Amino acid sequence: MIDKTLRQLSRALADREISSVELARLFLDRIERLDPQINAYITIDREKTLAQARAADARLAAGKAGPLTGIPLAQKDIFCAEGWRTTCGSKMLGNFVSPYDATVIERFNAAGAVILGKTNMDEFAMGSSTETSYFGVTRNPWDMERVPGGSSGGSAAAVAARLAPAATGTDTGGSIRQPSALCNLTGIKPTYGVVSRYGMIAYASSLDQGGPMARSAEDCALLLDVMAGFDARDSTSLDRPSEDYARALENPLAGLRIGLPKEFFGEGCDSGVMRRVEEAIAEYRRLGAKTVEVALPNMKLAVPAYYVIAPAEASSNLARYDGARYGHRAPAYDDLADMYAKTRAQGFGDEVKRRVLIGTYVLSHGYYDAYYLQAQRVRRRIAEDFAEAFRQCDVIMGPTSPTTAFRIGEKASDPVRMYLSDIYTIAVNLAGLPAMTIPAGFVDGLPVGLQLIGDYFAEARLLNVAHRYQQTTDWHREMPVIG
Ligand code: GLN
Repeated sequence: MIDKTLRQLSRALADREISSVELARLFLDRIERLDPQINAYITIDREKTLAQARAADARLAAGKAGPLTGIPLAQKDIFCAEGWRTTCGSKMLGNFVSPYDATVIERFNAAGAVILGKTNMDEFAMGSSTETSYFGVTRNPWDMERVPGGSSGGSAAAVAARLAPAATGTDTGGSIRQPSALCNLTGIKPTYGVVSRYGMIAYASSLDQGGPMARSAEDCALLLDVMAGFDARDSTSLDRPSEDYARALENPLAGLRIGLPKEFFGEGCDSGVMRRVEEAIAEYRRLGAKTVEVALPNMKLAVPAYYVIAPAEASSNLARYDGARYGHRAPAYDDLADMYAKTRAQGFGDEVKRRVLIGTYVLSHGYYDAYYLQAQRVRRRIAEDFAEAFRQCDVIMGPTSPTTAFRIGEKASDPVRMYLSDIYTIAVNLAGLPAMTIPAGFVDGLPVGLQLIGDYFAEARLLNVAHRYQQTTDWHREMPVIG
């Protein structure tokens, strides 16, 4: 059961091979046994999970089930879920029990899915290793001495270790794709505006986007069908006709034009990772695709521009954590200003403080034009580079991460090295494009991800391109040996 795809689980539930309660128990027991070493979850609540599973069983019995009814899913602890502690990986929200559901959670609940638990993450989604979490690092099931990536590292480790059939993540600069790549998963960051951000704790609002992390493109399509859709409560949600993301899965790839940006194939990528990426592209040629070289000349400016824009937005978004309304409040203080200062000094970790400082600085009078406006101009140019590239190709391919999973502690004290973990993913967020990662083999026993970037709203096409590869390769079926 723990190794079944969502479609297979759906069938097993429909055929009464297993009940939703039994399925939830199976995963909860496994979590109890194995998660103490991995630390993929921040919060588990057996009673709440089993109550939801019982409701799903009733729905199954009444013949009112959808494809996800009764399936337990791990939710990144950035999504507010009513009655669940929702921490965003921070001490600041360590005692926060959400009074409401994020739209994503509401949609999963309506579909009859079951919340298995809330997964670990870098504090406020700032990081690439899950090491900035207040709740301790998550370990990579492929090698317990290594990070699972981040910020959605708990979700990635949970799915890789079969502590959940699938999970959600969020991606501001790579946080769905990079941990998926480092843990041998398939993950998709949709076009900005496709998945509602309502109730998804804000990091950098113009970049944040939720999406699924699973074991195949087919599973991602099923999850995205539920997650995507217009929401009047999110002012940047896009009002578009609803889609069936699995509709194009089987389309043949003959004639597909794959763009290979020369900036992705130069220096900066580990040679073993590059070999796997090139082999995957060769497989696509066998499947009938053609490759063309494209250029993204402003790619090199993506990381610097991101580290102006994301901290600027974060400094504004995180101003709400002041101890006055919810979350942590300093136990002792002199006056109001002192309460704010002590609350924030105690509640935030170092990386969050660093970003709030950078953000406040780049937005301050006198520096605004030099940094923030300049970064916005770069952002526009990056989007234009992609638009030009998509005149010559249907999908762009390259590595997801420049290395395989790195050792715990290896980059934790060097922020710039950590920031470079996202050199291949960040430009996509700046442009608002959809992108995914799929397993493409191993280097020294550690997974490598191939990144697929599409034009706006090309999610179904990306899933199709990923699915065809997964029909002729088995990388995505490999599973780590644990406990
Ligand atoms: N690693 C990047 C950062 O720290 C991206 C994180 C994310 O996508 N949430 O900001």
